[in-house]
Amino acid sequence: MRIKEYFKPSTLEQAYNVLQDKNATIIGGGTFLRLGAKKIDSALDLSDLGLDIIEDKEDKVEIGAMATLRQVEIDEALKNNFGGAISKSAAVIMGVQFRNVATAGGSVAGRYGFSDFITSLLALDTYVELYKGGKITLKEFLETKGKIKDIVTKIIIMKDNRKASFQNIRNTSTDFAILNAAASRVENKVKISVGARPGVAKLAEKAMEFLEGSELNEETAIKAGEIASEELSVGSDIRGSLEYRKELCKALVKRAIMEVI
Ligand SMILES: Cc1cc2nc3c(=O)[nH]c(=O)nc-3n(C[C@H](O)[C@H](O)[C@H](O)COP(=O)(O)OP(=O)(O)OC[C@H]3O[C@@H](n4cnc5c(N)ncnc54)[C@H](O)[C@@H]3O)c2cc1C
Repeated sequence: MRIKEYFKPSTLEQAYNVLQDKNATIIGGGTFLRLGAKKIDSALDLSDLGLDIIEDKEDKVEIGAMATLRQVEIDEALKNNFGGAISKSAAVIMGVQFRNVATAGGSVAGRYGFSDFITSLLALDTYVELYKGGKITLKEFLETKGKIKDIVTKIIIMKDNRKASFQNIRNTSTDFAILNAAASRVENKVKISVGARPGVAKLAEKAMEFLEGSELNEETAIKAGEIASEELSVGSDIRGSLEYRKELCKALVKRAIMEVI
């Protein structure tokens, strides 16, 4: 990759100005970027901004945008909260060497359809903090693809004693998931997300609505899986057909719900 101008600012304000003035490309871990453009006019490196920490606060866990997926995987607060679903969704991505480089911010900002991390985050009460745009829900952030030129500074997950589960099916351990799903539960409210459809993770709103008015048991978990499979669009690619994904959706959603109940 050839980079004409390289910026490594020491404050977020400087970084934001470079982003606007130079239309710079933000470099997280650079792992996905290097698969694409071979020439970048202005590169913006965020590694001097102290964004590489994960903080366990009383009511939330804050993941700095430059924290690596390996940090996410082994962080004690993330292992001990949310049923470990966030750690688990990072741990299934490639190998340790890769996870030592790829960042949480790059993973969310990329809004990748195959993302495991986004699926688990979406099933929780998760916010994305943008330097100028402030705190927005992850759901809103995913809908703004390409429309905002801002820096993701943090991913914030609210702690509300939520139980959570992350499920995925892969042909081989280092391949993308054929489908992934996550569920979380606080009291009688269940949140369900499904990703690698192969489109980016979405909430299964109808299945969630169905569970809100139902007793939580195996029968309703099966029904919710069927509703999710009906309501969410899935497609075919080299990893799996539409029909196979529909079946996986039923099974993974049911398993995730069973784990949280
Ligand atoms: C070979 C390969 C296999 C993979 N397999 C999986 C998998 O199975 N499951 C899975 O979930 N993921 C997978 N990924 C994705 C990976 O986990 C990362 O999410 C991805 O590579 C981006 O990480 P990065 O930090 O290197 O971001 P970069 O490549 O540096 O950046 C990605 C994008 O985000 C932008 N960006 C980066 N940081 C910020 C920020 N703070 N604010 C705003 N924009 C930002 C960049 O400009 C760029 O557009 C895979 C990636 C590769 C290359």
